[in-house]
Amino acid sequence: MSLKEQRIAFHEPQFSKEEEKELLEVLRSGWVTSGPKVSDFESSFKDFTKGLHAVAFNSCTASMHVALASWGIGPGDEVVTTPLTFCATIEAIEYVGATPVLADIDCNDGNLSIDEVAMCINPRTRVLLPVHYSGFPCELQEINILAQEHDLKVLEDAALAVGSMYYNKPIGSHSDAVAFSFYATKNISTGEGGMLTCKDKEYAEKCRRLSLHGMSKDAWKRYSDRGSWYYEIQELGFKYNMTDLAAALGLVQLEKVESGNARRREIADLYISRFSTLPFLKPFQWEVPSHIVHNRHLFPLVLDIDKLSISRNEFIERLYDLGVCTSVHYIPIHYHPYYKNKYGWKKGDFPNTEYLFERLISLPIYPSMTDVDVEKVASAVEKVGSENLVF
Ligand SMILES: *Cc1c(COP(=O)(O)O)cnc(C)c1O
Repeated sequence: MSLKEQRIAFHEPQFSKEEEKELLEVLRSGWVTSGPKVSDFESSFKDFTKGLHAVAFNSCTASMHVALASWGIGPGDEVVTTPLTFCATIEAIEYVGATPVLADIDCNDGNLSIDEVAMCINPRTRVLLPVHYSGFPCELQEINILAQEHDLKVLEDAALAVGSMYYNKPIGSHSDAVAFSFYATKNISTGEGGMLTCKDKEYAEKCRRLSLHGMSKDAWKRYSDRGSWYYEIQELGFKYNMTDLAAALGLVQLEKVESGNARRREIADLYISRFSTLPFLKPFQWEVPSHIVHNRHLFPLVLDIDKLSISRNEFIERLYDLGVCTSVHYIPIHYHPYYKNKYGWKKGDFPNTEYLFERLISLPIYPSMTDVDVEKVASAVEKVGSENLVF
């Protein structure tokens, strides 16, 4: 029996012959690092997100680091973000020497609570860094209004939000800067990769420079008839550029993202129709407001643990025994020893985040899942819950 028959994986890569063909072409072209494919991918991605500018990176983490560095964010500055995120969000803030300030979330969708963000703003605040939890867009209008009132920049961590929409406009077009991830498990994958879309042209140029050693070819124009070898380092940059190999994958993946996201929404609807009558679950992102399109990157299940005789962790074990692999997004930032020690954060600091974390299980959801796979997951959830109900 193949692994696939044995159990439902939490994630499966969605690569096919087209990606293989494009990769081979790049290999045979003799140019594998940043070149024409990266330019094409940037321009296609810009069109897709309706962003004004797009700069490719080798990860989303790198793009957020450069986004903050290019604004000159550094020691003494504060960046307000969420505790319910992947460590990468906070790392970017740490890399520039700024201070992460965590605001609690809203339990309805897992996104930052605007009231909590407002309470964190003080004269040291420079940036708001909302994360689209599971791909569900944050209330960007309110966040951007708050930012304008206090003269702050907005950087969105849209690692999970490729193809999500807010008021009929794609994520990528709403704020000063928006960071995407093409890591192995995201809705578009280039193996590893990232993209920053942004509104300001000079800022985009600075981000591009910093993504490649801070290397400037502008000076070249002054020596233009002397060959193309000349460059100058005007500022300290990073080695964060995307390769043409990755971009070739990205170009094919981008063509499939709409159909892939549509299939994800179908799967989510199947789950919701199976789950809405189960007494041990709490509705979470089951209803999506009309101004939002959710790309359904994740399907987080929220257990009503008061109605169950087993914990979330035991629930995960039981699902695994029935052949269903799951995950948890995320271990709250303030639970990690490095951050606890550095900032003195402790359990109790962010009650809504903690409440959700104790109840969350991310179910498998990806375009290659069949209806039979979905049914297998749904009936496993139903079985584990009904067998462990408390009356
Ligand atoms: C995956 C992820 C990242 C990191 O993306 P990389 O491309 O691996 O750097 C950042 N933020 C969130 C919320 C993520 O889920």
